Amino acid sequence: MEEWQLQMQNQIDTIEELEKIINVSPEEREAIENTKVKWGTTPYFASLMDRDDPKCPIRQQVLPSKYEQQNEYGIENYLVYKENRAGDEDRPDTIARQYEDRIAFTVVNTCGIYCRHCFRKELVVDKSLKLRFDIDEGLEWIKEHSEVREVLVTGGDPLLLPDDQIEYIIRKIREIPHIEMIRFGSRLPIILPHRITKGLQKVLGEYHKVPIWLNTQCNHAKEITEKTAKAVWDLLSCGVNVGNQAVLLKGINDDVKSFQELHQMLLNIRIRPYYLFYLEPAPGIDHFRTPIEKGAELIRDAIRGHTSGLAQPMYVIATNIGKIPLMPDYYIKHKGKKEYILENHRGETTSLPNIPE
Ligand SMILES: *Cc1c(COP(=O)(O)O)cnc(C)c1O
Ligand code: SF4
Repeated sequence: MEEWQLQMQNQIDTIEELEKIINVSPEEREAIENTKVKWGTTPYFASLMDRDDPKCPIRQQVLPSKYEQQNEYGIENYLVYKENRAGDEDRPDTIARQYEDRIAFTVVNTCGIYCRHCFRKELVVDKSLKLRFDIDEGLEWIKEHSEVREVLVTGGDPLLLPDDQIEYIIRKIREIPHIEMIRFGSRLPIILPHRITKGLQKVLGEYHKVPIWLNTQCNHAKEITEKTAKAVWDLLSCGVNVGNQAVLLKGINDDVKSFQELHQMLLNIRIRPYYLFYLEPAPGIDHFRTPIEKGAELIRDAIRGHTSGLAQPMYVIATNIGKIPLMPDYYIKHKGKKEYILENHRGETTSLPNIPE
């Protein structure tokens, strides 16, 4: 058995195992004892937890909280609503569609950790949404839809599938003539970097006309280690481009210092920040929710002009009608008939003529 499989087999999902790693607080203990839904993490990711601080960003993302029982802003049956699963178009369970030219192909409902802020909780954490994971049925649907250029392979975490199944999915997608690219969404480079084995590199690698892109999810610099850096390097070396989709989380990355550090560290290990997501309106995650403006303010105060431009993600909210950018015009101080007044990160202003059509 490979190291990553051992890590999955030895998931930390009981108080007894957790106590060997951290000093569990009374609140954490109570929430764990009362939770009715799945929780757990790889031993590797657990080892990054602060032993004593319950506010540790890793602890907060992994350990249940009593606030999960509350819900003010979340929409029940969120995923069915968000992915238009009750809509008009007849699609296999594995296919989620919001755009004309690309679709999400959900191939598995397990994950390496069970993020407390997950917006796909119904599918992944409490498993109340049961999907039929018929890969061939999904592939057949994609084959019949020649307008689809790109397939996003997602889950759960698709890289938890065995190498031969991943190889099968990639090969079958590449046999479809209208598919121009494949994108994987996987948190494993962060929470289980051991998964990027020689075997997996072989499956993902080698030159091919249809490229593979991968987006991972990293929300705090504390999640990044030497092992992460090596896993990303291994992915890049076999031709897989790596991006990040962070989630804006109250108390974890919604301050200027953590936010800047996260995005600088991502670049240091060669991950290009892609999206910053506003927390979606799924139920039971209000305790992670910030005002909508927060993400744009953080980009203004921590990134733009303050550090490498490559560190800047696009701030978006994923909705039932697609992703919508949330970047207010903070930099436009005044828009006149003749000119714009623009402000930079130091508060200095400059002007630019307003050009008529
Ligand atoms: C996020 C998402 C995509 C990809 O959107 P991009 O803006 O290209 O990253 C495609 N389909 C669905 C259903 C999605 O949720
Ligand atoms: S890895 Fe992604 S799908 Fe899995 S629990 Fe975390 S946020 Fe949800």
